[in-house]
Amino acid sequence: MQMIPVQKNEYYHVAFEDLTHDGAGVAKVEGFPIFVPNALPGEKGKIKITKTKKGFAFGRLIELTEESEHRTNAPCPIYKQCGGCQLQHFSYEGQLAFKRKQVKEVLSRIGKLNMDEVTVHPTLGMKDPWNYRNKAQVPVGEREGGLVAGFYQQRSHEIIDMEKCLIQQAANDEIVQAVKNICSSHGIRAYNEQKHKGWLRHIMVRYGVVSKEIMIVFVTKTNDFPHKKAIIDEIISIYPNVKSIVQNINPKRTNVIFGDETNVLWGEEYIYDYIGDIKFAISARSFYQVNPEQTKALYDKALEYAQLTGKENVIDAYCGIGTITLFLAQKAKKVYGVEIVPEAIEDAKRNALLNGIENAEFAVGEAEVVIPEWRKQGIKPDVIVVDPPRKGCDEALLETILEMKPQRVVYVSCNPATLARDLEVLERGGFKTMEVQPVDMFPHTAHVECVSQIVLKEAAGPK
Ligand code: SAH
Repeated sequence: MQMIPVQKNEYYHVAFEDLTHDGAGVAKVEGFPIFVPNALPGEKGKIKITKTKKGFAFGRLIELTEESEHRTNAPCPIYKQCGGCQLQHFSYEGQLAFKRKQVKEVLSRIGKLNMDEVTVHPTLGMKDPWNYRNKAQVPVGEREGGLVAGFYQQRSHEIIDMEKCLIQQAANDEIVQAVKNICSSHGIRAYNEQKHKGWLRHIMVRYGVVSKEIMIVFVTKTNDFPHKKAIIDEIISIYPNVKSIVQNINPKRTNVIFGDETNVLWGEEYIYDYIGDIKFAISARSFYQVNPEQTKALYDKALEYAQLTGKENVIDAYCGIGTITLFLAQKAKKVYGVEIVPEAIEDAKRNALLNGIENAEFAVGEAEVVIPEWRKQGIKPDVIVVDPPRKGCDEALLETILEMKPQRVVYVSCNPATLARDLEVLERGGFKTMEVQPVDMFPHTAHVECVSQIVLKEAAGPK
């Protein structure tokens, strides 16, 4: 058995070489990796081992003896307690470079790509990487009779009250505070997880950054609503931009936020927002990208990589409410969108109508089931766009792409590891990865989004 060279509760002096995919510093003791939050590559420091596992250990930073030039003071006063951001102590420039390096590293290690032949561009960052989130979703608790709303303290279910979140749109912070205070003044009780008692579980706020429209969602344990009229009147008299107030009921003992029942309490079922020229209706439960500025950059890149001239048939797999589909439809002959959530497809169809787009067709189902059916029906896509969830594309879908032989595949990914795994399959099946553009959709967190262009080798010309 391999000896573990470090021991729990012991102190070590280490040099940090790298960051993990979730933003912790990596140091090695006799080649044995130790993951330490809040440490940066190039730094040295004293650590205490907090946990050992077979092939790695975790540690806590006790003291830094050498600081990276990229270390900055995290501006958020509750950064360390919250855990929502992992990289605020890292200069923004450093974050962008780290994300690019991480993408290159997994494409090479997991995807086995020849990195001399793939261009991984510098990460596309934001000019002002703060206040970008258009959706706030906060748990509600009680303290000394009043309500608190904020976030769960790391590794606990204690709710910390938060006045401001630096990555949220200011409007969201303000509305969350106002709703909390109005509910408090009416004696509303928060839901208590341990006792499974009380009423208000979460407050969600969605903000249309271009339209300025606001949606408020109350997630409650039961479908009653104490002081409903007074609370709603108060909210809409102060905030005229609130266009939709919705109640979602979640009676279950679970940490899943939403329940199955959603009712409109006041106003519309939707708020509207724009990405570029396209208008979208967004309902309480539909998936909508949280950083609109970077979403536009991401979709523009996807469109560029699709190289559409107006003659192409395109498939958009994992299409959500049709955001990418409608972008593509403006430049293609026909676009077929497929998505597993039926409500999202209803939204997608409504969004096509809303924009007068007639060359988009949508289907509900698993991409890996629906697209093979399309193939049998004789649909021949010139371009296939995929934007799967973190687990990546289903193998059956990748097989179908290989059989359909589109000229180009555009792969939008929120997880570089599964992107790399899937690119390897496409490469083995006759495709070639040309370019990868990392996009910083979630500044100050360790997440990175990528859009990649993959072409059929026969189409890429002689080898
Ligand atoms: N392209 C959209 C949504 C991307 S998120 C946008 O940019 O807004 C990924 C989407 O894949 C989600 O909407 C999710 O519901 C959907 N999904 C997950 N598994 C799926 C599957 N097997 N087949 C089709 N869609 C799936």
